[in-house]
Formats: sequence, C-alpha cells, structure tokens
Amino acid sequence: MAYYYGLDIGGTKIELAVFNEQLEKLYSERVPTPQTSYEDWLYAVETLVRSADTKFNTKGNIGLGLPGFVNRETGLAEITNIRVADGKTILNDLSARLGREVRAENDANCFALSEAWDENNQQYSTVLGLILGTGFGGGFVFNGKIHSGRIGMAGEVGHLQLNYHALKLLGWDNAPIYECGCGNKACLDTYLSGRGFEMLYRDLVGEAIDAKTIITRFYQQHEKTVSFVETFIQLMAVSIGNLITALDPDMIVFGGGLSNFDYIYEALPKALPPHLMRSAKVPVIKKAIHGDAGGTRGAAALFLRD
Ligand SMILES: [Zn+2]
Repeated sequence: MAYYYGLDIGGTKIELAVFNEQLEKLYSERVPTPQTSYEDWLYAVETLVRSADTKFNTKGNIGLGLPGFVNRETGLAEITNIRVADGKTILNDLSARLGREVRAENDANCFALSEAWDENNQQYSTVLGLILGTGFGGGFVFNGKIHSGRIGMAGEVGHLQLNYHALKLLGWDNAPIYECGCGNKACLDTYLSGRGFEMLYRDLVGEAIDAKTIITRFYQQHEKTVSFVETFIQLMAVSIGNLITALDPDMIVFGGGLSNFDYIYEALPKALPPHLMRSAKVPVIKKAIHGDAGGTRGAAALFLRD
C-alpha cells in the first residue's frame, strides 16, 4: 500500500498529514514553523516525515503546499512570509536529506486540486479555487491537473491589482491603498482577504473590529455594516469577474476563514453579471468541501495520477 504525505507549509505552523490512495486522511501532526534558521526549518520538515515513515513503516511520497512557489527555472523557493526558507533550494535540500523526490506547489493550487478531485466535483472540468484567508490566493485546475505556468507562478491572483471599477467603487483619490508584502501596492491580496475585509472596514466605516464582529453586525442588520458588506461584494465581483472572463471556469470554490461567510454565496452570483461578457455564465460558486484539510490533501495528491 502506498502512502501520500501532504505538508502544509505555513508561516506559523507546518502540518503533515498522511493519506491513502483514496485520499482519506489517516494521520496528521503539526509543529511550529522554525523562525531562526534554514537548518532548523529543514530539520523540522525532516523530523515530521521520518516520524510518519516510522509510524507507517514506509517511505511515503512527499508533496509540499507552499505559500508561494518554487521557481522552476532557478529551483529557488519564493516564499516571502517564511523568511528562513525564502530563496533557498528547498526541494533539492529536502530530497537529499530524505532520499526521495519531493514535489511542491502553491498552497492555493493544492487547495484547488483537492476540491477538483472530490467525487462531488468531478463533473466540473475547470475549477478555480480561491482562498479568502490571511491573504487572497488562487489556483486553477483543468481536467484534473494544476496549471502552474512556466516558472510556477500561475494562480497568484492575490497580486493582481485594483482595476478601474474597483477604484471607482472605493472613491478614487479617497480609496485606501495598501502596501503588499510582494513590494507592490493595491494588490488584491490586501483587499479580498480576511485581513483586507477588516482593513477596509476600518478605513471605510471608521472602526477597527475583527471579521467575526463585522459579520455578526451584518446579520443584525447594522446599517453601516450592511452597506460596507455590499461594497465588499461589489469589490469581489469586479475583481473575480475578470478571473471568470480569463478562465471561464465551471466552478469557483472558496476556502479560507472568510469563505465561511455564507452571504457571499447568495450575493456574489447576483453581483457578477454586469462585470462579465454578455453571453458569459456565472459558474457554480461554492464553499470548500474539505475546509482546512484542503492544503495537505492537495499536496498529498501531487504524486497521484501522474
Ligand atoms: Zn502583491
């Protein structure tokens, strides 16, 4: 029996989960992400893998889901929020330590793959996965395969920038413009994320509260909050509308903390048509089936169906 290890490599924790060929989760373990040295980071990943090897008496296949990607041309990891491993040859180094091939993909690509392969979604051949988490990320799966692009950057939708309609909606010169971790400004990552939702509320409504409280106020029909949420849905529509025009997916699946805000699934399909071409169809839009497990599940799937 073959075992598939999916590692969700995050800025604060690393989770390893073990799956069988049917992608059923058998085991998982998580450790904090070492922050001091690359050597510690490699050791943490190695220890998780060896502990799973011992437990299952095997050498499992290793897939990593990264908050970024490994540049295929240079072999260097581009993962700015994991400083100790950013710019390092992580796949070569891990593979040398663990004596087997190690594969990696962007975590949102892994998420999209995990959802696209679920039996409930197999009728959809083109799947766009979008993560509304700490940041805004995306992945595109076409006929069961991740589209990762030339260097591995495809799907980094968080670094698309606010467009004409978005700036108009936010009030032109009064629009809050946020700096992005990538070094640029006005990236969608800082708007269409849980963090962006909170920053926009602070700057448009004038009160700094967390996303949970905003959502509670919305359901209580708090007037300013209802109007804020409508603006946020419009902002999603003008931005995600462009993705639909470019990709024409059968399904969009949302993951991440903010994807639990159920009003999105009611309001977004209605807000999209003005931002699409006349004959375009709004795709099926739904919440992730596998929730937080999607990252490890999709990473484990990197060795299935070669
Ligand atoms: Zn950016």
